[in-house]
Amino acid sequence: MDFISESDMEKIRNANEKRKVKLPDGTFVPSLGQGTWYLGENPSTREREIKTLKLGIELGMTLVDTAEMYGDGGSERLVGEAIRGIRDSIFLVSKVYPHNAGSKNIFTSCENSLKRLGTDHLDLYLLHWRGGVPFQETVECMEKLKKQGKILRWGVSNLDTADMKELMSCSGSENCMANQVLYHLGSRGIEFDLMPWQRECNIPIMAYCPIAKGGRLRKELLEDEAVNEIALKYHVRPLQVLLAWVIRDDDIIAIPKASREEHVIENAEAASIVLSKEDIDRLDRVFPKPDKKVRLEIL
Ligand code: NAP
Repeated sequence: MDFISESDMEKIRNANEKRKVKLPDGTFVPSLGQGTWYLGENPSTREREIKTLKLGIELGMTLVDTAEMYGDGGSERLVGEAIRGIRDSIFLVSKVYPHNAGSKNIFTSCENSLKRLGTDHLDLYLLHWRGGVPFQETVECMEKLKKQGKILRWGVSNLDTADMKELMSCSGSENCMANQVLYHLGSRGIEFDLMPWQRECNIPIMAYCPIAKGGRLRKELLEDEAVNEIALKYHVRPLQVLLAWVIRDDDIIAIPKASREEHVIENAEAASIVLSKEDIDRLDRVFPKPDKKVRLEIL
């Protein structure tokens, strides 16, 4: 490995092993996982992407997030290849399209995901976003998949507070393990109502786009003086400050995506950055959380 020494790898792995989030069923998962959107779509970068994912796993980012949607199954196939032989050490998350999330299609969808991933079960299966299938039907299907042993748990994605409340009125919904939503320092809408509500219900947030797509979603984040001064203080990069900020509390999981080894190392290093209250207060002043309802941002 050209980028990192064995002893540095061990340090990073240890830091990641200490940062865990407890799911409602008592299972601990890493605060930092790995996203895989757009992986497996380009044959010329495939090998590099697999190496990166494997390195992230070695560094302790053992939660891997994918979806049947990503590259029409291409991401699941790539993940399957990367986790071959180490499946048991992975917390594997995939998502079902809303139009497949009913009794007509979900069982085939799940089976196809399992085949592409080369496994017999998912650790977590998420409804990708709300569609036309009633929540009650999806919940019943998810519970059936659990009984069949095809999935160990289920959750949702892209549900705002009103949708979550509606979901919670369904029988079986107490088994919802997470809501995966967009969350980064420049997009704090969920802190007004969704996050406090989920905290009351003990449902963790899984943050997607935690580094605002490498800063591309909000250019000012990486240029900001406070972010840069905090990065200097910890001898890290501004992007790592963004990631450390997302996982500042122990009930938020972040799933940054990287397709380059140097990136995944930086992301994994963020597990050892613990921002002080002073840093967090300073970032709050520059990028304040909203004081009124903001619609959930969706990508
Ligand atoms: P992201 O993780 O915020 O950003 C990914 C981008 O950041 C990539 O372009 C990556 O470049 C770059 N990057 C990663 N680490 C970096 C580093 N250390 N320095 C500089 N650049 C870095 O955005 P995302 O991929 O959209 O979101 C993360 C994951 O969340 C997805 O992959 C997917 O699994 C999930 N997601 C879910 C939903 C949903 O609807 N549920 C929606 C969006 C995303 P390289 O690839 O070149 O390394």
